[in-house]
Amino acid sequence: MKELNDAIMKWGKTIGSDVVKVDMFLNHRIDTGLLFRMGEEIASHFTEKYPEIVLTVEASGIALAMTCAHALGDIPVVFAKKSATVVQSGEMLQSRVFSFTHKTENFIRVDRRYLPAGKRVLIVDDFLADGQAARGLMDLCSQSGCTVSGIGIGIEKGFQPGGARLREEGIDLYSLAVVDSIGGDGRICLREQ
Ligand code: 5GP
Repeated sequence: MKELNDAIMKWGKTIGSDVVKVDMFLNHRIDTGLLFRMGEEIASHFTEKYPEIVLTVEASGIALAMTCAHALGDIPVVFAKKSATVVQSGEMLQSRVFSFTHKTENFIRVDRRYLPAGKRVLIVDDFLADGQAARGLMDLCSQSGCTVSGIGIGIEKGFQPGGARLREEGIDLYSLAVVDSIGGDGRICLREQ
């Protein structure tokens, strides 16, 4: 998506050889117009699969999930939570996920009532790296008896294996931008699309 590629080149920074920092527009300060257009673009790819729920993980996936769900006809967003709280009352499904950015292992949790069996679920997240978060969300869908319509991603890091492995498994994975590499000088190289 050209507008997203332009924003990455204008605002993106890198940390070391594998982290892309785009908090100027995607996951700290949010460029609302861009996020709505990103959501529309993901929605248009998956519209013929008629997703009924958009599933993401807190916190940075929520904005893109919202705009995508809005473009799909105001379907609900369900976001997996990363910590247990006293207000969680229903039966919680949980899956273990290794966090790429925090370098810790956490459980992600969803109340079973919000993923009713048989629903078609579109998974959306801001980034895809090793695919751990996406696999945790797929696991929650499988535990609840939902089907995964596909996975929509803002920025895929093509130099990490998550995307290739998911595609090899036949999953419909659609990424709006793919970072092919981070150069020794920290320069971001984007895949031509
Ligand atoms: P994965 O589970 O695919 O390894 O990593 C995806 C998750 O880690 C996303 O939910 C995202 O929040 C975070 N993440 C992975 N790589 C990056 C990155 O380079 N930059 C940022 N900002 N987040 C990342």
